[in-house]
Amino acid sequence: MSERARVLIVGGGIIGSAVAWSLAERGVDGVMVVDLDLAGLYASSELNAGGARATWWQPVNIEGCLATLSFFRDHAERFGFRPSGYLWLYGNPELFERALAKRELQNAYGLEVEALAPDEIFERFPLIDRNREEVLGATFSPGDGLLNPNAVRAFFREEAERKGVRFRNRDYVTGVVTARSVGASGSLRGVTAVEVVEVATGPRAERENRLREILTTHRVPGAAVEAETRIECETVVNCLGAWSPIFSAKIGIRDVTEPVRRQISLVDVHDEDAPPGVDLRGLGMLVDTSGLYLHGEGGHVLAGYSTPDEAPGFDFGYDGQSFFESEIWPRLAHRASAFERCGHLRGWAGLYAVTPDRSGIAGRVGGFSNLFEAHSFTGRGVMQSYAVGRAMAELIDTGRFETVDLAPLTRERFDDPERWVMEELHI
Ligand SMILES: Cc1cc2nc3c(=O)[nH]c(=O)nc-3n(C[C@H](O)[C@H](O)[C@H](O)COP(=O)(O)OP(=O)(O)OC[C@H]3O[C@@H](n4cnc5c(N)ncnc54)[C@H](O)[C@@H]3O)c2cc1C
Repeated sequence: MSERARVLIVGGGIIGSAVAWSLAERGVDGVMVVDLDLAGLYASSELNAGGARATWWQPVNIEGCLATLSFFRDHAERFGFRPSGYLWLYGNPELFERALAKRELQNAYGLEVEALAPDEIFERFPLIDRNREEVLGATFSPGDGLLNPNAVRAFFREEAERKGVRFRNRDYVTGVVTARSVGASGSLRGVTAVEVVEVATGPRAERENRLREILTTHRVPGAAVEAETRIECETVVNCLGAWSPIFSAKIGIRDVTEPVRRQISLVDVHDEDAPPGVDLRGLGMLVDTSGLYLHGEGGHVLAGYSTPDEAPGFDFGYDGQSFFESEIWPRLAHRASAFERCGHLRGWAGLYAVTPDRSGIAGRVGGFSNLFEAHSFTGRGVMQSYAVGRAMAELIDTGRFETVDLAPLTRERFDDPERWVMEELHI
């Protein structure tokens, strides 16, 4: 079977869906998205913590998140967005000092981040009542908050479909057909000028590769027959999240991204002897000095912790009760007596797409005339989704970023550590 797409987006997570919607918004037709499971069984977009903050250390990340948070506020009801703030506790003096210095940059963007002394923290957030001497201070960012990321992804997809974008579900990208081309095209508008030649001759500098077809296999669980489709495409966008390196390897480029498992537990905080159990009023996302993070979630508490020795790999296994007992509960009870009697409900694991500087990768892929990419957003893909989708659509359509300049996120930065977009406050 064969298909044609003007722009083929591989990966229909929140980033791929945002790019698709933004292209459709600009009036670009012939956009197609393929994904092995649009329900998101293996998509980080369905497995995350639902936090959104603009309080980062690098301008490109602040700007991307600011624009996206503003979009979330505009659709607050639909996305369940509540700007309940991030309270970040510090126990490391050096890190706290650097966070305070970065607060100046954040507040220059109008984020109104507060610096709190220990007494203020304990007065405003009495939940924190244990081992208080460890807490040197905190930052509180009232404009940050929480939301339902699935609702955002559904919005991008539904609105894109309404504008004619085709989403192919259960299509597993298995191969890529490339051709050598002469004359690079900077944008969709210039792509017809590309002359395709099958055999490379002449100096390397004058030629670039061109992706001609993407091969997919239609796989339905339990069905014996697998149908192969060849999708002829003018432009390809790699939005495969943590899976991006597999695609890149098919076309001979090496990605620096590593998939790393992150686990989340849902905690039962109902204490029949002392209702209401844990009072989280006034708290949005709380990040503890230990690295544990938590927020209220449908009457329970969602708590996550990134084990520092987690080896990279495509591991979706949740360690269940043992993870809760070894990593979550001790940290909760260490900081708040209210968590002394909490219990484990369930949990899950998803993948962070981790880069050496903990920032995403976006832009054109050098050496290819018609390949773009937007992936590896570590723990920030939801909160940057709108801005990244819009900026990528601009780049694909016109050849340049117009709203948020994502140029610092080019993959080429990894050739020079001076150009890394280093983020340190990660959860
Ligand atoms: C536990 C956890 C907590 C997080 N918390 C937050 C948070 O609070 N806030 C925040 O902003 N971000 C958070 N993140 C990160 C965020 O979820 C991701 O950055 C974001 O979802 C990435 O979106 P994506 O579209 O790039 O990738 P994905 O959502 O992973 O989408 C990639 C898609 O590619 C598809 N795919 C893979 N291989 C193939 C193939 N061969 N063929 C076809 N399709 C394929 C997959 O099915 C998937 O749908 C968290 C992540 C995790 C795991």
